[in-house]
Amino acid sequence: MRLLPRTLATQREHASLGSALHRAARRAIRGSIRFAAFAFAAVALLHATVPVHEFAPPTPFHGAEWSTPYRDAPPDWQRVNLHAHPDRKWWGALDEASEQAIVDEYDRLGFAAVAITDYMGHRSPTPGAATLLHGYEHGYGWRKWHQLCFGGDAVEWLDYPLCQGVDEKQHVLDRLAARHDFIVLAHPALLDAYSLDDVRALQGYDAIEVLSPYADSVAHWDAALSAGRRVGAIATDDLHGLSRRRHHTRYSTYVDADDRSAEALFAALRAGRMTCAVSCEEPPPFQLARHAIRAGRLEVAFTAPVDRIDFLGREGRLLQSTGPGCSASFELPADEPYVRVEATHREMRLLANPAVRTSGGAAPLATASVQPIATFTRAAALLLLAALLGWIAWRGPDRLRLLPRG
Ligand SMILES: [Zn+2]
Ligand SMILES: [Zn+2]
Repeated sequence: MRLLPRTLATQREHASLGSALHRAARRAIRGSIRFAAFAFAAVALLHATVPVHEFAPPTPFHGAEWSTPYRDAPPDWQRVNLHAHPDRKWWGALDEASEQAIVDEYDRLGFAAVAITDYMGHRSPTPGAATLLHGYEHGYGWRKWHQLCFGGDAVEWLDYPLCQGVDEKQHVLDRLAARHDFIVLAHPALLDAYSLDDVRALQGYDAIEVLSPYADSVAHWDAALSAGRRVGAIATDDLHGLSRRRHHTRYSTYVDADDRSAEALFAALRAGRMTCAVSCEEPPPFQLARHAIRAGRLEVAFTAPVDRIDFLGREGRLLQSTGPGCSASFELPADEPYVRVEATHREMRLLANPAVRTSGGAAPLATASVQPIATFTRAAALLLLAALLGWIAWRGPDRLRLLPRG
């Protein structure tokens, strides 16, 4: 007879435990829905600020003449590394000793200049014999939409960390161009952050990091050149502290500048008077000695014999390959907008900026104009979406009956 009340009590305990668990689960689901709605509302608000652009169509280099960015005089190569991060301590703080060690190491190796380009911040270690170039790496998106920024002291904080279409990428470049003098698309092939169509459309960047330990982005460079974007190529170590020594000094940019001052180096970089190379040998076994146009032919020479000299055209198409030897020449064809040269010798690969067609004078700049009506429509739609998501975050889970009754 005593068994029945105890069973009833146990059943009641189980029922009240079950309803407590049920209430806790409902609270957790309601909280998750609110958090997700709030997060998506914030993203919609951020992206409502992005203008819609109309991009100039690809216009390959054209004109009756050819021009090369290199000078007639023998080049005075200044070796630089434009991309390096200091080590971080185990709790994430910068290791300033490592920052100084990087400067000292590139100094010891005879580099003319080095940049400490940490994420979203200028660094100022004590310079040595190598010029310290002031710059930083912009971008904190998961897909590594990164840019190296030089010139100007203020950091641009705007970014779109979750998703970026071509309009977001152009908007970021416009904001960076307003603050900085020289902007490089960093490792664009890494995680396919920038598509080939992106680099064809975008404007406002000066160079592409085509070679680094993390990505070979030469196809991106050819896509940009084929669309008529006059952008240079650089190679960098993208060093992440000297504790990971496997890469440093393998990827270098060589700048034909009058001296190693930041002003002279960036003037030469903007003019395209640089080459970039990857080499497992130290010192690298050869350099570009001459890049000139004579009687409709592109003539190149190197400081030592190389295994192979390639002439490449639109979209990186191989036009002629010669070697081994110290020099080569190629008759510039009527149907190519540009011709660039790559030389390889053992484990070294060197890329020179292209000779391009021109009609004389400065090449017209590609434009990306803002479309006001499309921008307003997109902003209004995203603001409405943000308002709806905000309402869901505030009242929605119960009002919309997103949860079962109980
Ligand atoms: Zn990066
Ligand atoms: Zn980096």
